[in-house]
Amino acid sequence: METKTIKTENLTKVYNGNKAVDGLNLEIAEDDVFGFLGPNGAGKSTTILMLVGMIEPTEGKCIINDIEVARNPLKVKEIIGYLPEDVGFYGDMTAEQNLDYFARFYAMDASERKKRIEELLELVQLASVSQKVGGYSRGMTQRLGLAKALLNDPEVLFLDEPTANLDPEGVFQYRELIKQLSDEGKTIFVSSHILSEVSKVCNTIGIISKGTLIARGTLEELKSELGRVGAENLRIIVETIEPIPEITHRDIVNAEYSETKRKAIIEAKSDLRDYISSKLFEKGVKIKEMRMEEPTLEDVFLSVYRR
Ligand code: ADP
Ligand code: MG
Repeated sequence: METKTIKTENLTKVYNGNKAVDGLNLEIAEDDVFGFLGPNGAGKSTTILMLVGMIEPTEGKCIINDIEVARNPLKVKEIIGYLPEDVGFYGDMTAEQNLDYFARFYAMDASERKKRIEELLELVQLASVSQKVGGYSRGMTQRLGLAKALLNDPEVLFLDEPTANLDPEGVFQYRELIKQLSDEGKTIFVSSHILSEVSKVCNTIGIISKGTLIARGTLEELKSELGRVGAENLRIIVETIEPIPEITHRDIVNAEYSETKRKAIIEAKSDLRDYISSKLFEKGVKIKEMRMEEPTLEDVFLSVYRR
């Protein structure tokens, strides 16, 4: 009976007496795009390495399509694709040559390989690039990494921080690719330390901190939960030349003023920058600086912890 695509049971990894992953229980449904969110050092990469069978758990297990990973690593490799945090290619070869090199690890003959590689280079928009991989941008390398992970047309795809260090255009292209692959019916497990990243492509999210899952749910569920505890609020920071008068608005949930009243941190449910500028203008208060901060991952964690 195949009900869940990806499952971990009490998954634990101990390094030098420290639990990098601590009793993790995950269940990810078939066709889901799952966002594995957590700050640096939380245990995301270690979890993924155990899921793809590259390292063995100290305790517990990983199951993919009813196959226990550590017991059947080769069988699992046939149905999964994996993009590591730092994918490496041969810099003095083209994309096609690199992919052909890796495709030889799968049972595909030369003509099959050629066809598959052409399709994949088309998909990741590298088909017309003749340049050697050594000269690629970070975004191009990450897209080639995705092509590599897709060589065996896997059912389940693991992507470890695929958009870290990409420029906004690169992030956008990557997101589109993930959506496309999801539409084709692949189950996708993608890790990130950036909330806005996972919230744009994932249907369900798990938040990991210090090796433990601290929250889990659909994006909607987590959003309403975060909304309830106020973690979704924006922070508008205003610095002025003259002291700031008190600003009121129904979307303002909290405001803190500095002693000199020349700086205020306003927590609000919506972007009130225009409103605040016009209020200050009316009162003749000149603005030195105004900026808005969206909730950070830390805010989300704090709200989850406080609960
Ligand atoms: P993340 O991917 O979320 O940033 P990691 O899974 O890489 O986190 O790391 C989790 C914890 O395990 C960190 O404290 C890290 O230092 C430690 N760790 C990871 N890999 C090793 C290793 N090979 N040897 C010792 N400690 C490790
Ligand atoms: Mg990592």
